[in-house]
Amino acid sequence: MNSTADIVVVGGGVIGTSVAYFAAAAGASVRVLEKERIAAGATGHGPGFFNAFGGDFSPGPHLALGLESIRLIREHMAELEQFQEAPGWFNDRPGLAPAYSAESLAHHQQMYAASGAQLEAAGAGAEWLDADQIREHEPLLGPSVLGGYLFPSVIQVDGWKLAQMYMAAAEKRGARLETAEVTGLVWEGERASGVRLADGSEVSAGHVVIAMGSWTPAASVWLGFPLPMCNLKGQLHVLRVPGDVVLKHHVIERIALMQYPDGDFLLAATPDPAPGGGLRPTDAYIRPLAERHALPEDTQLLLDTGISRFPFLEAAEVVEDRAGGRPMSVDLLPMIGTTPALSNVHIASGHGRKGIHLSAATGRLVADTVLHGRTDLAVDPAAYSPMRFMPPRL
Ligand SMILES: Cc1cc2nc3c(=O)[nH]c(=O)nc-3n(C[C@H](O)[C@H](O)[C@H](O)COP(=O)(O)OP(=O)(O)OC[C@H]3O[C@@H](n4cnc5c(N)ncnc54)[C@H](O)[C@@H]3O)c2cc1C
Repeated sequence: MNSTADIVVVGGGVIGTSVAYFAAAAGASVRVLEKERIAAGATGHGPGFFNAFGGDFSPGPHLALGLESIRLIREHMAELEQFQEAPGWFNDRPGLAPAYSAESLAHHQQMYAASGAQLEAAGAGAEWLDADQIREHEPLLGPSVLGGYLFPSVIQVDGWKLAQMYMAAAEKRGARLETAEVTGLVWEGERASGVRLADGSEVSAGHVVIAMGSWTPAASVWLGFPLPMCNLKGQLHVLRVPGDVVLKHHVIERIALMQYPDGDFLLAATPDPAPGGGLRPTDAYIRPLAERHALPEDTQLLLDTGISRFPFLEAAEVVEDRAGGRPMSVDLLPMIGTTPALSNVHIASGHGRKGIHLSAATGRLVADTVLHGRTDLAVDPAAYSPMRFMPPRL
């Protein structure tokens, strides 16, 4: 394979395909090189809630990217929906962020005090409900709920569905998806002239985008620059309950529950006993990349916690068990931008628990910076730059 493109994207997850979608829409020729298949990594697992509240976002630049992503997905949903294989891939319902202990209730209220103004300024604010009010809104919640926030509208879309839609829309504009493993960069002076593939051939490119998810540290070696990340494991169950049970909200907390239009439920994601959904992942769920299967003890813990919060799940049948690793940068902010060595190699990785949600703003930001050297998104691109990991001068 010896060929060329304006932009070569390495990785066909939700981040790489979003870059392809926005860059192709802006007129660039794009090739996505994926070593396995589209959504083979973390993207194949995540339920993709576009909710900007909770322990996953810190106020400031992180939340700003999340809010821009919500705006963009609403703007692009109608176009992307043309590529869905069945109706209802975008599942828009009101969202609840409940608390089940005094500690998590205090934590929720602290989080809202810190980020509420930013959420409300973007039209994504919430209303606080006490225990009786929240159960009245969502009768399927169990007696252990103490209160929570109500969000009028939260879009949910599975990562693999969104990646598929981004790619199909990009292909319509001439982008190509190819199965190929990238093993390194080819460079001339300060710029990369392309990428090298496992079969020894090269693909030349004006720009290279590294969207390799949890495999990104390999590119750290190619670039001679630290891209510090860990692999935060998560897992989920698809559940089926007898009868016509209807969950009216996406219930989003460390343990989230939602219902697909076909009636099945999804219980996700990290069976993590951390109080209230704090920002730090617990060490226990940082796992080797190769561990991509559900562990029986985690399955049981997730199910037990789910039943304790939603008693109706006692009757549920587990129809699917999935597990995967999320690419989490060590400071929890995504890495988007270039590194010192090669000015036309762009990193787009490290999105942790929120890569599906953040894909829209990330794809647009990368396309804008690669093609125009600037963006009109309401974010400060410097905040996400991998240059923050620049070693101190000796
Ligand atoms: C259980 C679970 C629940 C989640 N819930 C949510 C949620 O509710 N909301 C949300 O926003 N996010 C959620 N996430 C996180 C989200 O799935 C990830 O942040 C996101 O998918 C990361 O996308 P990515 O494209 O960066 O990485 P990936 O999807 O891992 O894609 C990277 C791709 O690069 C390819 N690749 C790697 N190396 C090479 C190479 N050398 N050559 C060619 N190809 C290569 C891989 O095969 C892979 O397909 C969840 C994740 C899990 C596991």
